[in-house]
Amino acid sequence: MKTPNYCGAPTGHEPHDPCPGYPEPLAGQVWQDADPRVPDRYLVITGFDGTHAHAAPITWDNAARTGQRIKDARPTRIRVDRLRPGSKGFRYIATVKEIRT
Ligand SMILES: [Zn+2]
Repeated sequence: MKTPNYCGAPTGHEPHDPCPGYPEPLAGQVWQDADPRVPDRYLVITGFDGTHAHAAPITWDNAARTGQRIKDARPTRIRVDRLRPGSKGFRYIATVKEIRT
């Protein structure tokens, strides 16, 4: 998946021409579930297997721009094509060097 025109905005934002509103999914990125029923669902990408990203649930402090792994929370797999804005998608939040465990 290539989204070469991502503008580099530090937080998730609506698509605008020519930026699709999200970067190419990579490990170390934090994404927020766009489903309004789970407004505080944040995940950090830990790897990929073909069609899916592996991700770990985290808490996210938007002011401090840091997150923390949720103890005992199960890692999950998300189809890579859901890592984009939309009601069934995810919103790009940030790229982090490490997530505290
Ligand atoms: Zn943009």
